[in-house]
Amino acid sequence: MFTPAQIEAFSNLKTPFYFYDLDLLRKTLDQVKEYGLSKGFHVHFAIKANFNFRILELIKEAGLGIDCVSGQEIERAIEAGFSPDQIAFAGVGKTDEEIQTGLNHNIFSFNCESLQELEVLNNLASEAGKTAQVSIRLNPNVEANTHKYITTGLNENKFGITTDKLPLLFDLLPSFHSVNLTGIHFHIGSQIRALEPFVQLCEKVNNLQDLFEQKGFELEHINLGGGYGIDYEAPDEEPFPEFKSFFELFEKNLELRENQQVHFELGRSIAGQCGSLISKVLYIKEGIATNFAVIDAGMTELIRPALYQASHKVDVLTSSKPEKTYDVVGPICESSDTFQRGIQLPEIKRGDFVAIRSAGAYGEVMSSGFNLRERVKAYYSDDLNQ
Ligand SMILES: *Cc1c(COP(=O)(O)O)cnc(C)c1O
Repeated sequence: MFTPAQIEAFSNLKTPFYFYDLDLLRKTLDQVKEYGLSKGFHVHFAIKANFNFRILELIKEAGLGIDCVSGQEIERAIEAGFSPDQIAFAGVGKTDEEIQTGLNHNIFSFNCESLQELEVLNNLASEAGKTAQVSIRLNPNVEANTHKYITTGLNENKFGITTDKLPLLFDLLPSFHSVNLTGIHFHIGSQIRALEPFVQLCEKVNNLQDLFEQKGFELEHINLGGGYGIDYEAPDEEPFPEFKSFFELFEKNLELRENQQVHFELGRSIAGQCGSLISKVLYIKEGIATNFAVIDAGMTELIRPALYQASHKVDVLTSSKPEKTYDVVGPICESSDTFQRGIQLPEIKRGDFVAIRSAGAYGEVMSSGFNLRERVKAYYSDDLNQ
């Protein structure tokens, strides 16, 4: 939803660009505070979803930590003012250099994804004269019912350690003197709208926790990862997902030990709805089955439709004429450079503005320079609302 003043302001800016509604981000963070942080849960924002300083600033003020998947993300989080003891670091392919970055900053947790990584981490920590705090990322084999490219918690996925390796892990751990096992970590996928997969995750976590305890490992931290989804079809009706039932589910289903700390790593559910990609219509091509609205934003600015067949709602900001059928397409020489097919929109003409909604997570951060396109800019509601 955009105010007339915002739409007026857009007409003076060079398109395409990202527009972030910081008030909506504040409201979303208030929900996370009320239903998550105030219950004692720790929430780490998955910085890969959006690494803009303006976004990170509000997230830091709200009291969240950061979840990183690269050394550069650790550096960015620290530059944005997050404390290293709020930074978790996951990823199946951490380089030695990235591990050293984490060690140098004494981050809260390395979320280790393989036994070999654990060994490398142990050696590098030993060389640095440090003890690395480690959570083991376990693959719980839970079906998240999301797109196959964003499912991560099944045995056939590359992420985490499958539970058949646990006996080996228990044997190896005592010989690793420079790592301190403090917890277990999970992340079953992304854009999970139903709560059921998370209930199943809790059951797995409870069983695994029993197993670790039987082997004499007490866990200080349980990290459930992220993956909570947003409503891409109706962003105005559901401007943030229902955090109350999400956090309550874990309160109800996790069998926690005394003083055990519970962590989440939420990306999309926090930053997704506050961002839109604003674009201008270049050409209208009347087709046979549909009309093509060729806009000046493409997969170079927002790759999710091309990469995951993701659907983002398209709003026409400058027309309220009767509706016609359109394919909304970008300018890039790829047929997958299509935002929507066969949708009903108010009649569009060259020069109209459109907003591609729910693009605050995995949007701008995935933009590319393909076709030597200019790097997309970002604007913020605080600066445009006079
Ligand atoms: C991407 C990622 C997240 C965040 O996922 P969302 O679906 O954006 O909430 C959390 N943890 C890990 C390890 C990730 O890779």
